[in-house]
Amino acid sequence: MNNQPRSAYLHIPFCHRRCFYCDFPVVPLGDKAKGDSGPGSSSIKSYLNLIHREISLFDLRGDSLSTVYIGGGTPSLLSSRQVADLLDHLRSKCGLQYGAEITLEIDPASFDINSLKGFLEAGINRISLGGQSFDNNVLQELGRRHSSIELLDSCDLINDSFQRGDLCSWSLDLIQNLPNQNLVDWKEQLLKAISKGPPHLSIYDLSIENGTVFAWKQRRNELHLPNEEVSFDISRMTSEVLRKAGFSRYEISNYSLPGHASRHNRVYWSGAGWWGFGQGATSCVFGQRFSRPRTREGYKKWVESQELRKIESSSSLIDDCKLIPCDDLFIVGLRRREGVDIKELLKRFNLNHKQFQIHLNELKIRWEYALKMGWVKQRGDRFYLTDPDGMEISNQILVDMLLWWESLSNLYSDQSIL
Ligand code: SF4
Repeated sequence: MNNQPRSAYLHIPFCHRRCFYCDFPVVPLGDKAKGDSGPGSSSIKSYLNLIHREISLFDLRGDSLSTVYIGGGTPSLLSSRQVADLLDHLRSKCGLQYGAEITLEIDPASFDINSLKGFLEAGINRISLGGQSFDNNVLQELGRRHSSIELLDSCDLINDSFQRGDLCSWSLDLIQNLPNQNLVDWKEQLLKAISKGPPHLSIYDLSIENGTVFAWKQRRNELHLPNEEVSFDISRMTSEVLRKAGFSRYEISNYSLPGHASRHNRVYWSGAGWWGFGQGATSCVFGQRFSRPRTREGYKKWVESQELRKIESSSSLIDDCKLIPCDDLFIVGLRRREGVDIKELLKRFNLNHKQFQIHLNELKIRWEYALKMGWVKQRGDRFYLTDPDGMEISNQILVDMLLWWESLSNLYSDQSIL
């Protein structure tokens, strides 16, 4: 079957504790939890049993996988044997291409040199390290379990493997625009991160999610976030410092040295689709997004019902090939350095040249301010956000594009697959 996804995401929903800003579907198991024995291990084992049952239901024969991402949560709570078993099972059901990018998310203080070696032997060839900050006070405010020293040691362990050629690539996550953050502190963080040698950096803006400790603190006016101006300067500085260090910003939050852009991330933004496995995991197959239940009980019941039907839910979409919803393509497309090709997207409406020009002009009128300020640039039929200014104020630009898209969809609703 053509157009089948060639990427898979596996969700491991366990963490030692819940960080104060996080609203992911995770299960905190305590600071001593481990996958194979001791505290928390029975929860992890029974969950792994469920996710293996879900993988067993997979019965599509198509192209082998070219990227796999084991994320969470804190997947490095698993033992290397448990990671190897997951990859072996996936390989036997879906196939894994030679040279496939296989990423494991890990947290400092949840692995050591032996477990790292075990993960690499299991087939992991890319690591994504959740560092967030090198500052102990900030780490405490974030509710992270690890210390700055543990993060520095983790970077060294991973970078040594990378330098020896045992790992193809690795990435470090940091969070910017945190409470009380200023330009001086943040620059120090960026320079420290660069000095540890990651060829890929993901820099996320703090976002306050409902139901988190941070949301509660914000309601009580206890969260002193940088104001809009400082926040803009912080983001701008990130882009400048990393550019000077040789990093290319290939997506709003992601920077890489040449050859180290994440292939798996690019799948999310390209519209190619991916399979998903595990509690709360989303898959996007043949243009349809599907989210599995976010609670353990809900996921268990769902796996059981799939077993009764003898089908993995994504497989049931095979006769229902749709295009990726356009608003998704816009949003993800505009986040990428290469932007979106408007002509390509409008093909689904079968417009003639005159109609195309009319609607393109309508978009340009909505974006007049952004084009004038140089936040959006046009190259042929392709539009892209400029770095850093366009990327920093991307929200308004996206909203205007979606409003334009909505008006088109109303006009041509009977001709398109939205
Ligand atoms: S370690 Fe990551 S997934 Fe787990 S609670 Fe913290 S931010 Fe969320």
